[in-house]
Amino acid sequence: MKTALKDMTLEELTEFFVSIGEKPYRARQVFRWLMNGAASWDEMTDLSLDLRKRLDAAAAIDCLRIADMAVSGIDGTRKYLFETADGLYIEAVLMEYYYGYSVCISSQAGCRMGCRFCASGRHGLARNLTPGEIADQYIICERDVRAGFGKTHITHLKHRDDEGRPRIGHIVVMGVGEPFDNYDNVMAFLKNVTDPQGRNLGRRQITVSTCGLMEGMRRFMDDLPQANLSLSLHAPNDEVRRRIMPAASACGIDELIGFAREYSRTTGRRFSFEYALFSGVNDSGACADELAGRLAGQGFHVNLIPANPVPGLGFEAPPPARVAAFAERLIVRGIRTTTRRELGSDIAAACGQLRSERILGGGP
Ligand code: SF4
Repeated sequence: MKTALKDMTLEELTEFFVSIGEKPYRARQVFRWLMNGAASWDEMTDLSLDLRKRLDAAAAIDCLRIADMAVSGIDGTRKYLFETADGLYIEAVLMEYYYGYSVCISSQAGCRMGCRFCASGRHGLARNLTPGEIADQYIICERDVRAGFGKTHITHLKHRDDEGRPRIGHIVVMGVGEPFDNYDNVMAFLKNVTDPQGRNLGRRQITVSTCGLMEGMRRFMDDLPQANLSLSLHAPNDEVRRRIMPAASACGIDELIGFAREYSRTTGRRFSFEYALFSGVNDSGACADELAGRLAGQGFHVNLIPANPVPGLGFEAPPPARVAAFAERLIVRGIRTTTRRELGSDIAAACGQLRSERILGGGP
């Protein structure tokens, strides 16, 4: 098995290069190449040919390979199914907005939170992803971006590399898995992606989404206060939340909202709640009013997500008028509310769906 260099921080990479008899600055060179998407040792032209050959024999460049991909004919959204070296599948979604590219990546192969509406939790947790496997999702997507994929829907591209080529502007850790159930590896990845000697992504360009693991949220507030934290609430009260998010409900809604207040005070950042709308479950006017009653007047942001139904799970999306009515009831109470634009509706874009199809043998 070859060494996975992308699993290492710059400090660990430096130790690795010293251990093979190289100067420490070699680690910085290779780190920069890897984090900026080099696909082969030959691209690393500032390394000697001899070192490139030795690295080729001992170390792997990529931790993942693309097993499948679907491209939306409607909005250009790309859904990647990646395979790990030990045959597990995970997903990432590359989206185009008018201002540039955003990628949603996975933190675990599977998930043990067991949310009833979610394809990702359906098969349980296989294992945590390594920092390199988490990184490779954006790295491989960014290669496509750099090679000129898309741009159809982008009118004001904000993020470019030194040579003027497009880059991914935002990373969202919201794919398969619960990021704070794999805290150390997610943080190692975030350290690498924000390292000025590597990819140098701004901390404000990162969003981590959790179902509400309190210990992880507290550590994250201390470790990376400049990044965005988003909490999947999906219910106006504990009774509904326990029904649809059994493992995630260990912490009650009052405690979660109390933390959100503390987070805003401590970091000076607006706290976001995600609220997926499921027809007949949490989308009534009474639910909207109850939610508004809990959140109003505290400077929170609510992002409504019309559910992307997963076949066989029994959850349906409400009609657009019902989504709009729900949003309106929050807005009149002064809550900043957005409704997520439906992206990739023609390519099984619900989280974990491609992976689930592959595991069940129904995929392409
Ligand atoms: S919604 Fe998130 S936390 Fe819940 S099962 Fe799916 S991946 Fe896990």
